[in-house]
Parts: sequence; structure tokens; C-alpha cells
Amino acid sequence: MQKTSDFRAAQASSAGSSAFALRGTGFALLKSMPRPNLFLLACAGAVMMLLGGCASVATNTSHTFSTVVLDAGHGGKDSGAVRRYSPAEKTVALDVALRVNRKLRESQLRTVLTRDDDTFIPLDNRVALGNAQKNSIFVSIHFNDARRRGVRGFETYYHSPYAFDLAAAIEGNLLTLPRAANRGVHVAGFRVLRNAQYPSVLVECGFLSNRSEGGQVGSSAYREQIADKIAEAIVDYRYGEGVYQRQPTVLAAEAAAGKLPTAFR
Ligand SMILES: [Zn+2]
Repeated sequence: MQKTSDFRAAQASSAGSSAFALRGTGFALLKSMPRPNLFLLACAGAVMMLLGGCASVATNTSHTFSTVVLDAGHGGKDSGAVRRYSPAEKTVALDVALRVNRKLRESQLRTVLTRDDDTFIPLDNRVALGNAQKNSIFVSIHFNDARRRGVRGFETYYHSPYAFDLAAAIEGNLLTLPRAANRGVHVAGFRVLRNAQYPSVLVECGFLSNRSEGGQVGSSAYREQIADKIAEAIVDYRYGEGVYQRQPTVLAAEAAAGKLPTAFR
């Protein structure tokens, strides 16, 4: 999503917070898994306050949330990343968001989608919809793009310190997928993170610009696995490890259609 409007918006934001938008700067403090120590987290919080981020620090619903706002990146005239190995980012992001939506509902969480079809929704509208949902969290789904085709892996972004644990939980769970690569959990000033009232994370579910990863993303069975990992991370983060129930009907249907690798049949 980096070449898209939310990234540019983050760069163009007030001089004070622009540092958050720049990848690979000093704000890649929290690159390694698992969670950083409290000192690092406190530093991140203090720096954010110094740089003027304090006005938008989220209300901490990370342990109480009953609603998950799912935000499929891009849509309509904004295709996001477009590469030859898979459908456009807007298409696969929506597909994964819809799959996560179904899984969370089956786990008894209330969900709200910022879009459920190929529609352009301005970033501020997405944020406003999320902020209007009491006791919620916000999860934005994107796929990545890079000039260098060798770059691959999952990365997850947050802005409020209250959202770090959720971001780390999602990143960590995605890393249990076969051949997954870890690009870390990072602070970023993307608008859907910075202006969120409640804990908000943005998940980059792999690079469409990478032949191997982009090719996998073109498979519905792989997108189902990504959705399953994201949903599991959210449910287990909220209710405790092991609470998430994988829906065998979904996997069985995929297997019957011959779409799953042998190990899942
Ligand atoms: Zn994107």
C-alpha cells in the first residue's frame, strides 16, 4: 500500500508526525518479535506524545472490545498495488476481509465492514465509521508492493501503544504459515491508524510484487489461510488462547473443490 494515498497523506501530515510515516527510520524500534520490553514501549509512547500524537491516542478497548471494524484497503478507482502475479490489491484485500468477517461472526464477535464491494471509500470516512463503533478495534487489510521483487513477508503497523499487542498477535500468528517471512511490527502514521479513536492496526498480508508470494495470494485457499490466521489472532487475543474454533466447513468446502494442498485435506 505504500505508494498509495494513505501513505502520502501520512507523509504530508504535520511536520511533527511525519517521521512516523517514513519506513526504515528510527521508528522501526519494535522490529523484532516477540513483544518489546516495557521500556521500549514507554519510549515509543513518550516520543509519540512529544511529536504531537497525543491528541489521537486511542481509548484502550484492546481487552474489552466486542466489535471488530474490518477495513479492506483501497477499492473502486483506487486499485492499490497491481502486479501480474495476482488480482489487484483492492480485490484480494476485500476477499480476505470478507473471509475474516465471516470467521469473526462465527466466533460471536460483532463486525462492521468499511466496504463489502468494489467501492472507493475515502480514508476519513473509514476512520469515522470505525470511531463511531463503541468498544471496537479497527483492522485494516492490505497487500504490499516493492520495487525490488525479492522483498517478501508479513508486516503489521500500529500507532497507539494500546494497539501494539494486537498487532504483534496478528503478525505472530501469520508467521505460523508455511514459508512465512517476518518483516516486523512497526509504528506508522497512516491515517487509519493515527486518527483512530480505538486500537487500530494495519496488516500487510504479503508482497504482490514478489513472484512466489504474489502467486500464493492468487489462490483462494491461501487467502483463506491468511484470513484464518488473522481471525484466530483476534479471537484468541480477546478471549484467550485456544478459544478460536477453525471452521471445518469452510476448509472442507475448499478441499472438496480441490483447492487445498494435501496437508489440509
Ligand atoms: Zn494498500
